[in-house]
Amino acid sequence: MAGVIRRLDEAVVNRIAAGEVIQRPANAIKEMIENCLDAKSTSIQVVVKEGGLKFIQVQDNGCGIRKEDLDIVCERFTTSKLQKFEDLASISTYGFRGEALASISHVAHVTVTTKTADAKCAFRATYSDGKIKAPPKPCAGNQGTHITVEDLFYNVNTRRKALKNPNEEYAKILEVVSRYAIHNSGISFSVKKQGDTVSDVRTLSNASTVDNIRAIFGNAVSRELIEVGCEDANLAFKMKGYITNANYSVKKCIFLLFINHRLVESAAMRKAIETVYAAYLPKSTHPFLYLSLEIAPQNVDVNVHPTKHEVHFLHEDSILERVQQHIESKLLGSNSSRMYFTQTLLPGADCSSNEVVKSAANSSVVTKGSSDKVYAHQMVRTDSREQKLDAFLQPVNNPLSAGTTEVTAEVDAGPPKGAERPQDAEMEEVSDLVEMVDVQEDAVQPDSGHLFPETVPSRKRPREDMDVELEKDDTRQDMTAACTPRRRIINLTSVLTLQEEISSQAHAKLQEMLHEHSFVGCVSPQWALAQYQTKLYLLNTTKLSQELFYQILIYDFANFGVLRLSEPAPLYELSMLALEDPESGWTEEDGPKEGLAEYIVEFLKKKTEMLKDYFSLEIDEEGNLTGLPLLIDNYVPPLEGLPMFILRLATEVNWDEEKECFESLSKELAMFYSIRKQYIIEETNPTNSQSEESESGSTTWKWAVEHVLYKAFRTHLLPPKHFAEDGNILQLANLPDLYKVFERC
Ligand code: ADP
Ligand code: MG
Repeated sequence: MAGVIRRLDEAVVNRIAAGEVIQRPANAIKEMIENCLDAKSTSIQVVVKEGGLKFIQVQDNGCGIRKEDLDIVCERFTTSKLQKFEDLASISTYGFRGEALASISHVAHVTVTTKTADAKCAFRATYSDGKIKAPPKPCAGNQGTHITVEDLFYNVNTRRKALKNPNEEYAKILEVVSRYAIHNSGISFSVKKQGDTVSDVRTLSNASTVDNIRAIFGNAVSRELIEVGCEDANLAFKMKGYITNANYSVKKCIFLLFINHRLVESAAMRKAIETVYAAYLPKSTHPFLYLSLEIAPQNVDVNVHPTKHEVHFLHEDSILERVQQHIESKLLGSNSSRMYFTQTLLPGADCSSNEVVKSAANSSVVTKGSSDKVYAHQMVRTDSREQKLDAFLQPVNNPLSAGTTEVTAEVDAGPPKGAERPQDAEMEEVSDLVEMVDVQEDAVQPDSGHLFPETVPSRKRPREDMDVELEKDDTRQDMTAACTPRRRIINLTSVLTLQEEISSQAHAKLQEMLHEHSFVGCVSPQWALAQYQTKLYLLNTTKLSQELFYQILIYDFANFGVLRLSEPAPLYELSMLALEDPESGWTEEDGPKEGLAEYIVEFLKKKTEMLKDYFSLEIDEEGNLTGLPLLIDNYVPPLEGLPMFILRLATEVNWDEEKECFESLSKELAMFYSIRKQYIIEETNPTNSQSEESESGSTTWKWAVEHVLYKAFRTHLLPPKHFAEDGNILQLANLPDLYKVFERC
């Protein structure tokens, strides 16, 4: 039966061809997302099961497909986007080959449910091997298209076997969708696993590109971004995007490249840009780059095979050179604007030498005001970026736990999944998968003494169950070679609102002052002096550090590492200690302390999952505290405050409302973490430690204040407006004024 044999051949050929187009679930999803974008959707939702191998659903609110077209949408070379060959040159939609849906339908079961604006109802049809199985059935549905793809590669044994790790496929899917989400701000995207109530990637339609980068790659990237953009009419190209400045570097380059709105790879461009960065970043570290190029369609070969992500275009070398030049100029600009060496008028300083180096781009600080001229009295010879030598000489003693519980921190595997949520609190979505590896290069870590915890910044640690996957990823040559940073993305409205509250309260001038300040010295544990331009400030380190920790808790919510206590601390004992402290305000009317302490233990034990998942506060089954959140490197909270913190955790936190719960809990934690007077008194008390140790104790806290806290204030603190008014940041003197006074003497 020759006819039968021919039919078989055709099916197999189609299947092989389809396997070429659709190599893995993420490819299918990419094609489907491009279709949604072509259909002018503003909301695109992806749901998958088993990494997309079992089930993929992509839903949009776009223009829909007309009922009469449903018969043939899955046939090869059917497309609504191209009519004649000449159209190819000016194509602006993603798809034009009509190949994606057809291919998918050859290797999976496809169901399309769709409604156009003027149709009375939606229609549903299922497809197999490119053909519709039965006439479309009317059904209920909103405008837009909803496509499900089930049992991908059910008929391609080899492919199915090659893709047996659903986690890996899911990571790839998250990578693709999050990149399209960044490139398409204004359109909301979400991805989640079927059955989960939480999305692992989610962007909002009113979010900006930077918001989306922040949501997906984290604050550490987003706060170091420089906007770039250039164009050249002769070369017929435009480029725009965001790249990180020299403050940021990561082990593996993150490069999001879109050419004519298609996610692509260009090894040549990556290399060209990395060459520029090599002069700015520490050796073998790399930037984050998001670039969108628009190149005259006739100069790009758009008709490349769908799996060919590596692109080439006309005038490639000249365009790369222009991009290089532009990036170089931007990096140079951002770098030198932070550099200023001018003369100081601090008492005791040598005023005779005029070390004024004024760089061309040095406009942000010294030359503020109406004229460019810098007068001698405005000159400050400090460079806030300059590290003092002792920054590298971290004291051997743990700066903040001398004489208290020894803390040894260890790398934690990251928060568990499916943690319990606060009771009665209405929860929104929080992802449990996407985490990010985000290396902050600024921490210089000398050999730590035995007492000093070997802390690992939370962002550096991948999830334990992702470890293998990440390593594997390194050796893979995939659709996009850059690794997907892993960070749990928090979409809880409560947390986002708290973040907004912080940013809306930020005082720009104070922020600039903190960013650029030069640390002068500690007056006491609570107070320190800093200089900014010609002004001298007195800062309340206690209050500033409290605010810093609060902000870290809210911004890095659910993304903390763990400081593990070397010995579990029993909550019962801690509560008893706190109740014995007169500060607790305990009176006999409150009932016996033992009863209260027992109640506190039982109460907190009920909250363990949430505390661990969101705050890295770990409590074991016996009611011992075993871990605290690692908020900044090289910093352990003053553990004397632990008993009172536990008492207040049980009594002062609002456990009923989600937002208030996170807010009050973070406030309590922040208070506990802040640097306070109390702890220094203990340290200088000779009964607590030998005098020699107390001496080194005082240098350790000073070291921590200067090199840990004030360093973090530079980049991590958004000072609230009230600090300018409530005396927590006081300008003591403007030195040119002082100078005038001296002159008279
Ligand atoms: P292409 O995108 O190259 O045209 P596809 O196979 O991806 O080919 O899609 C075939 C056709 O199906 C498209 O041209 C479009 O008319 C229709 N289509 C697919 N997905 C959608 C969608 N989400 N919304 C509207 N139309 C769609
Ligand atoms: Mg398409």
